[in-house]
Amino acid sequence: MNVIYPGSFDPITLGHVDIVERVASIYPKLTVLIANSDQKNYWFTAEERKQLVAEAVGHIKDVTVDTFDGLTVEYARRHNTRVIIRGLRAISDFELEMSVANINRTLYPEIETLILLAAPEFTFYSSRLVKEVAQFGGDLKTFVSKNVSDAIQKKIKRGSK
Ligand code: ADP
Repeated sequence: MNVIYPGSFDPITLGHVDIVERVASIYPKLTVLIANSDQKNYWFTAEERKQLVAEAVGHIKDVTVDTFDGLTVEYARRHNTRVIIRGLRAISDFELEMSVANINRTLYPEIETLILLAAPEFTFYSSRLVKEVAQFGGDLKTFVSKNVSDAIQKKIKRGSK
């Protein structure tokens, strides 16, 4: 069965890549699902995020990348999927992950949310912090893949961030 890993991925970090690698080693197929919500102020468009994710996980077999601007459970239903993957870095992630999982279960009772604990070396990696470090000129190579680091630098140089 195909499983989905939904998120903003604005942009994808090496912490996300680690989750994709681990899930891909358990399940035969994984779709990274890029959320496109009007309510969030993304740095990168859904298409840019899709491209960056595709490049960052290009070395992992049987992973596809897709975008969706509706509810994750709607996507899951349409694609006959019952498993949503999420990651947990610290207790601060817990409340949000629990409410989202419970809302999704209410909307689609057959859905299961599987939560993977972040590997210790990635617990403090987040898209938000990566963008903050970038704005202050910090080196990004420990946190993101080269294509992502290049895309961030380009955005900052152009003055659009
Ligand atoms: P969202 O905006 O939906 O939370 P994110 O792109 O920030 O999307 O994250 C997607 C999922 O990946 C979330 O479940 C988040 O907790 C998890 N995640 C984010 N960073 C890491 C990391 N460094 N290690 C493990 N999981 C992570």
